[in-house]
Amino acid sequence: MAGYRGRFAPSPTGDLHLGGACTALCAWLAARASGGRLVLRMEDLDTPRVVEGSAERILDDLRWLGFDWDEGPDVGGDFGPYVQSARTSHYEQALTQLRKQGYTYECDCSRAEISREASAPHPGEEGPIYSGRCRKIVGPSRTFRRTPATRLAVPQGIVRVQDAVQGAREVDVASETGDFVLRRGDGLFAYQLAVVVDDLEMGITEVVRGADLWSSSARQALIAMLLGAQPPAWAHAPLVVSEDGTRLAKRAHGVAVRHHREEGRDPRWLVARMAHALGLAGPEERIEPRELISRFSWEKVRPGPISIALGD
Ligand code: GLU
Repeated sequence: MAGYRGRFAPSPTGDLHLGGACTALCAWLAARASGGRLVLRMEDLDTPRVVEGSAERILDDLRWLGFDWDEGPDVGGDFGPYVQSARTSHYEQALTQLRKQGYTYECDCSRAEISREASAPHPGEEGPIYSGRCRKIVGPSRTFRRTPATRLAVPQGIVRVQDAVQGAREVDVASETGDFVLRRGDGLFAYQLAVVVDDLEMGITEVVRGADLWSSSARQALIAMLLGAQPPAWAHAPLVVSEDGTRLAKRAHGVAVRHHREEGRDPRWLVARMAHALGLAGPEERIEPRELISRFSWEKVRPGPISIALGD
């Protein structure tokens, strides 16, 4: 594909774990197999969760595994900055555009009010679905009880998203998620807005990331469309679970790439185990990432969840 621009967008909230490494392997292979470019973006917007030094450690672990990137915080590029905390003016601009077009409203409801008035008995993945109370209170003379959040006034209708690994989904965002937050009351921009703005401005043609974010894609496609842009293509790499099928605990033994590095393992061993679990290689002993380029196709990648056999 000419002009392919992919990205890997880790959050510096801890060391690179096997799930992130599998996603990085997919993102790197997709970019290299299409002769395109790979962007590395550090997603440090959720400042309370950022762990000091983990951004550098993640980049270092990615390099140890054999990956490289064409643009990123440490290598520069024409679409920077590549660190989200340095991009807030871009998010502000996008929010202003949405606001001017009448797609947003301010909301000063407290958490307790939102739970009490939730329009659905079962909470959505980001908590209870907001009733839309503040959407009805408009006018310049409105006073707020606390610094308000900004929500997207989600339009009615179905959003269709197509994924290279997970298939297709048709999502009624209004009923599935409701009017979601674009900027929190404390001023932090929501991941949903930031990621769309960054992917659009960085010219990303295909978003590769973990399957845990597949359900966010419809919301993000919607934001992109409201900003007047064409959403990127999607490819959600399988969720990595532990060998007994349960969620990988981030601190569990052997989950961090660094653990294997410190044990003196050959990175090609870990790449081989990941590639095998993903469906990209047989049970081989050692593989360099570049040996997988010619073998890569999204059709081969398992939708998951997958587990990585690390026993010898
Ligand atoms: N920063 C997110 C993470 O590390 C990924 C966001 C994305 O790729 O859209 O889970």
